[in-house]
Amino acid sequence: MNLNKNYDNLEQSYLFSTIAKKVNEYTTKHPEKKVIRLGIGDVTRPLCKAVVDAMHKAVDEMGVQETFRGYGPEQGYDFLRTAVQGYYAKNGVTLDLDEIFISDGAKSDLGNILDLFDKDNVVLVPDPVYPVYVDTNIMNGRNVVFTEANSENCFLPAPPSEKADIIYICSPNNPTGAVYNKTQLKEWVDYAKKNNAIILFDSAYECFISDSELPRSIYEIEGAKDCAIEFCSLSKTAGFTGTRCGYTIVPKELGKLNKMWLRRQTTKFNGVPYIIQRGAEAVFTEEGQKEINENISYYKENAKLISDTLKECNIWHIGGKHSPYIWLKCPNGMTSWEFFDYLLENFQIVGTPGSGFGKNGEGYFRLTSFGSRENTIEAMERIKKAGF
Ligand code: PLP
Repeated sequence: MNLNKNYDNLEQSYLFSTIAKKVNEYTTKHPEKKVIRLGIGDVTRPLCKAVVDAMHKAVDEMGVQETFRGYGPEQGYDFLRTAVQGYYAKNGVTLDLDEIFISDGAKSDLGNILDLFDKDNVVLVPDPVYPVYVDTNIMNGRNVVFTEANSENCFLPAPPSEKADIIYICSPNNPTGAVYNKTQLKEWVDYAKKNNAIILFDSAYECFISDSELPRSIYEIEGAKDCAIEFCSLSKTAGFTGTRCGYTIVPKELGKLNKMWLRRQTTKFNGVPYIIQRGAEAVFTEEGQKEINENISYYKENAKLISDTLKECNIWHIGGKHSPYIWLKCPNGMTSWEFFDYLLENFQIVGTPGSGFGKNGEGYFRLTSFGSRENTIEAMERIKKAGF
């Protein structure tokens, strides 16, 4: 038996374990201090009523002979795929049902999709970035190259002159909160088509976009169905981080890829539980949309509080407007970890050091709006009082 040696090439990620260790040490030393966590990328508001009711009803159905269900279709029940189809139609995107694949979340499919691609492809990933894109490719032994996202391009890199085969785009972006507009995204679509490349478009945060001119789906861009697969999730949209449901769009224009993905899923995946899919369906109802939008507005109000405070303190930052993430430049030339320690020691606030997302993240810091209103207000008051 030989092991997959590619795993030896993975960089050990100490980001979240180091954060936890530092916070633990601090709270042990200062048990009287209230530490506020604005570092997490996880939602904190509960599932909305429409979703909970739908899941309760589905549980009851599963307990009755006439309505019990066993294995479902691997690519998802038609009722949920139809709901997703309707959601896309609202943004002017027409999808066939067999282009929509229900998943147990975006992370799994972002990794699983790599089954469809040869090892020899050149993979282009922005830096800084959601680490899953890089690590899943390294596990497969693929060569990863980076595009530089930095303050000069507002953390929205344009296509490079070199050729790439597999391109990752995350918009709204984790960790920077930056969002591509339609013109910028069209450049990527043109680049992909010219290079016979595929774009893997991660739209996990699309629900935070409030400007109708900004694209929520790459398929709002002409030609994108010829060169892009889209991954979306109900995790941040509807608080499904623990419930697990998302969807992946593989257009038929991509030819063989649509059939290959179906084959892959029917072989290696047995579908998302019926109960969860009924809950997910409820997200797309009128009631569900109203309720989830209340939660999204809550997070966005938190983001505004953070952004307003940073403005007052003259701290350069982006994001927070169409994203739950605020990406700031560490004041006074501090490194990401120096600023982490400074915030923890002086204000008892925990954020995420930007250097954990790639080398271009050094000197930057991520705050999230997923905390409670009370804690966000208190954290911002602490910062305002001290200034920088
Ligand atoms: N994509 C991005 C950019 C994310 O930040 C996350 C989670 O934080 C995911 C995908 C994973 O989403 P899911 O919970 O659907 O697996």
